[in-house]
Amino acid sequence: MIDVEKCKMTRWPSPVLLEKSKPIDKIDDSIRALAEKMKDIMVEFKGVGLAGPQAGVGLRIFVASEDGTKENAKVYINPEIVLSGSIVTNEEGCLSLPNIYGNIHRSSKCSIKALDLEGKEISENAEGLRARIFQHECDHLDGTLIADKFSTVAKIGARRKLKQLRENYEQHKDA
Ligand SMILES: [Zn+2]
Repeated sequence: MIDVEKCKMTRWPSPVLLEKSKPIDKIDDSIRALAEKMKDIMVEFKGVGLAGPQAGVGLRIFVASEDGTKENAKVYINPEIVLSGSIVTNEEGCLSLPNIYGNIHRSSKCSIKALDLEGKEISENAEGLRARIFQHECDHLDGTLIADKFSTVAKIGARRKLKQLRENYEQHKDA
């Protein structure tokens, strides 16, 4: 059972962000409440996607909304992604790594199969920003963050901000 009241924006290096998330075996009201909460967190922090671990829940679910609105936020449960197209490089950020940006190589296209909140199978082809969001969020479900994919130079550039995040986490983790 998920305590949705306790779900909140989770930042690096919280362990849930670094672990592989577990599949959802039953889509019930607590999952629907979690999805609703995740949409709210995404909108509050002005993101275009949010994965379960970012709300503190290690389950394979994410929400995505290209324009950052709640109306257009769609929920993907137990997603499976297949990459295609060419490799494109673009700057990315992550709500769990505030103020840290770096170039990330991604596939220009992908297709995704997942379940919706009614347990129905959904299948989508994506390109451009949407393909990038899908890949970023699926990475979260495997415990991979953008900083893991940074070049050596970008990693050095992010070092000080990561150190601050770690200090912040150490101070607040028992709160
Ligand atoms: Zn992220």
